[in-house]
Amino acid sequence: MEKYRIKPGANVNLDEFDADDKSEFDGDKAEAKDALKEIAKDLDDLQERLYAEGKHAVLFVIQAMDTGGKDGTIRSVFGDLNPAGCRVEAFKAPTSNELAHDYLWRIHQATPRRGMIGVFNRSHYEDVLVVRVHNLTPKEVWSKRYDQINAFERMLTEEGTTIVKFYLHISKEEQKKRLEERIEDPTKRWKFNPKDLDERKLWGEYQDAFKDVLSKTSTAYAPWYVIPANRNWYRNIVVARIVQDTLRDLNPQFPESDLDFSNIVIE
Ligand code: ATP
Ligand code: MG
Repeated sequence: MEKYRIKPGANVNLDEFDADDKSEFDGDKAEAKDALKEIAKDLDDLQERLYAEGKHAVLFVIQAMDTGGKDGTIRSVFGDLNPAGCRVEAFKAPTSNELAHDYLWRIHQATPRRGMIGVFNRSHYEDVLVVRVHNLTPKEVWSKRYDQINAFERMLTEEGTTIVKFYLHISKEEQKKRLEERIEDPTKRWKFNPKDLDERKLWGEYQDAFKDVLSKTSTAYAPWYVIPANRNWYRNIVVARIVQDTLRDLNPQFPESDLDFSNIVIE
């Protein structure tokens, strides 16, 4: 999965990333689904150990263009975990109270505690994406945020949180298909937001903003992965493998007990 990781300092050109790529899985959609089930079992075990050990927090950040598949990825990859050990946070437009603070205030409060897996559906990166594209704050303000975000993420990792970030990469044509599907399929209409059509007109501006995010904030301690996401099954298996590798690297262990079990009798 190295292939999809952005090296620190890389000058990212998203046109060079193929959203249809499926080269890292040797099999078809059905086989990928079976493989995903196997990984889910392993994730369940790893998560229980992480929770029992209570030493590390793990944070997965997910960003994408509209219809990019953030919700679907979260359901497919994290849906089988014990809900007590995994918390999903979705960041919407900030409230007036949130806006009265710095942009990282609400984010910091939502970071996972030790033993927990946190998943961010959108994140502090909106503050250099939507905020930049729509001029919600002046450039002098948002342009400083890349360094601030790197410093914030460095602090979190130094204090015991492992951070991995996913950009789900879909093509503009694929977004068109997905928006059309939301109109045609009555079970998907609830997801259709006419505002998404206005956002689509800003596709190029968003891609430029993502290019800067990926170029400036992929660090050794909090890397970005660009996930080919035109095919849901491929996106899911790639994200699941990276999640699995991340948890395996932490190698969480059930803690030893200091109790002397030989003297304990249950009457
Ligand atoms: P999604 O589209 O992610 O599946 P949703 O459709 O349920 O989620 P929306 O209300 O469409 O919910 O998405 C959240 C909205 O909040 C997005 O338009 C996003 O750009 C906006 N948002 C998130 N964070 C910020 C921020 N810091 N400043 C301004 N807008 C933000
Ligand atoms: Mg939306």
